Amino acid sequence: MIFIAQVWLTGLSGAGKTSIAFELEAFLVSKGIPAYGLDGDNIRTGLNKNLGFTQVDREENIRRVAEVAKLFADSGVVSICSFVSPFGEDRDLARKIHKDADLKFFEIFIDTPLNVCESRDVKGLYKKAREGAIQGFTGVTQAYEKPEKPDLIVHTEDLSVKESTNKLIELLISENIIPKYIKDDADV
Ligand code: ADP
Repeated sequence: MIFIAQVWLTGLSGAGKTSIAFELEAFLVSKGIPAYGLDGDNIRTGLNKNLGFTQVDREENIRRVAEVAKLFADSGVVSICSFVSPFGEDRDLARKIHKDADLKFFEIFIDTPLNVCESRDVKGLYKKAREGAIQGFTGVTQAYEKPEKPDLIVHTEDLSVKESTNKLIELLISENIIPKYIKDDADV
């Protein structure tokens, strides 16, 4: 069995992408499956630090992320990308980049309603966006285009982070990316 795959998490800020990605990464690594999470923190501070949040910059952000993620996947690492990635066209490009390289790509919609994300306001960004201190904030002053045909939708509202992550693990098992026996002794 080979573990090559790209897991792409999309959703509003505060939806739970990073929390789920960390949990999934930790689970896979604990089972000896190489995995690596890419997110705004390790991409926007380095490779993409010259990019902002206009539509054009967001598009370029996602294109670069997808190309880097492809290299991770190609090297046999399950790469887990957590990006708001609000535009369908950009996510489609990410899928195409992987498909053209014969790599499995799973688009996961972390579907948490805006009011829940806003009440979590993990980084205080919604407050700033409502006050006008942040322009082009997804869900407030910029659109979020919901995925039309995601490979999985996770409603986090009534779930724990572990329960949400479990849904991704089950998808990877059903798609033969990771073996079923791995989960039998999993604490999820
Ligand atoms: P994002 O990366 O989408 O901006 P974060 O993962 O940074 O979101 O923040 C999501 C917040 O929601 C975290 O504080 C997390 O603990 C909380 N949360 C509550 N329930 C869930 C769940 N089922 N799945 C993911 N996160 C959840």
